[in-house]
Amino acid sequence: MNIAQTNLFEILQNSEHEQVTFCHDHELGLKAIIAIHNTVLGPSLGGTRVWAYEDESKALEDVLRLSRGMTFKSSISGINLGGGKAVIIADKDTKRDEFFWRRYGQFVDKLSGKYITAEDVGTSPREIEYIAMETQYVSGKPLHIGGSGDPSPFTAYGVYISMKSSWKKITGKESLSNTKILVQGVGHVGQFLVDHLIQEGAAVFVSDINLQNLKKVSDKHKVTIVDPKEVIGFECDIFSPCALGAILNPESIALLKCQLICGAANNQLKEEQRDGDELVKRQITYAPDFLINAGGVINCYTEVIGTYSKERTISLIDPIYDLLSEIFDKANMLKVNPQIAAIKMAEDRIQKANIIRNKL
Ligand code: NAD
Repeated sequence: MNIAQTNLFEILQNSEHEQVTFCHDHELGLKAIIAIHNTVLGPSLGGTRVWAYEDESKALEDVLRLSRGMTFKSSISGINLGGGKAVIIADKDTKRDEFFWRRYGQFVDKLSGKYITAEDVGTSPREIEYIAMETQYVSGKPLHIGGSGDPSPFTAYGVYISMKSSWKKITGKESLSNTKILVQGVGHVGQFLVDHLIQEGAAVFVSDINLQNLKKVSDKHKVTIVDPKEVIGFECDIFSPCALGAILNPESIALLKCQLICGAANNQLKEEQRDGDELVKRQITYAPDFLINAGGVINCYTEVIGTYSKERTISLIDPIYDLLSEIFDKANMLKVNPQIAAIKMAEDRIQKANIIRNKL
């Protein structure tokens, strides 16, 4: 995206965003972009990502993509939230102290609940606590201030049951036992996913650029470590990207040697249509990311509506198992890739909600 040569409103029209807010505090070095994609179903909710973006257009591109993904994620999960996301442009030299985060919380507060923030890459419970000092519009708060805590175990659980559902669809097998699974990224989500896979008797392979995270997992479980450079093209039954977005592109897809891709990372397909179609051609099943990683947002939702319990969260995640199977059938029937079939399903719910709203 080249901002200098592109009409910003044309970009927003194409991506169908409702509102984009630029937040700036020169003294504190705060540069944030909050994107609200769609609020038909409810207030937009999505985490705040901190990243050392190459340039501002990359940050804008990321927040627009991620917030759109949140709209689909909440819609397909059957919860009453819209899609939003925030990014903060910062590098290791940006002083991110209490006041940096409280100032950011004030910006979130000014949106009066149209956007509810949460954790993402670069934010942790400590930052969420600072944000919560300035606004009530924050979820995934630490347990000690009345929140639901880290959503990652719930995200991992959703990915795990999605893996089981997809594997059953492909092979007819109920269990992942003895299945060769490569998890790329054993951070917050990946490590909990590995717990489930090991418990089920899968042969687990892990890869990470963070040696501490690798050590944590390999000290706990019998796993095989794979060099990050060898992940793409590594022969396995299931590849589970739990690190980065845009990992599936023409170059990587050509090298893949697996039957199923099922992981937590957001926006795994660099281009949903092109790369999703290519996976179909290569007979590699792709489990739509925004559906299978919805456990975290579902957990935030049960916190936001004020009736939080783990059981309630799990009861809203469990239906992903059958829904995913339905999406694979729908994709076959419509002759589209599973990501497109899932988007259609998510859009359909928003459209129907809009119709009944207009009847009021
Ligand atoms: P995290 O930052 O805790 O973990 C990511 C891990 O990936 C880290 O250990 C990092 O070192 C590793 N990594 C980065 N680049 C890598 C590379 N090239 N090769 C191998 N490993 C690499 O993040 P997380 O919270 O576990 O989330 C993982 C992914 O899932 C992200 O894309 C995130 O957006 C998505 N997601 C997370 C949640 C959640 O509840 N945390 C919910 C939905 C989606």
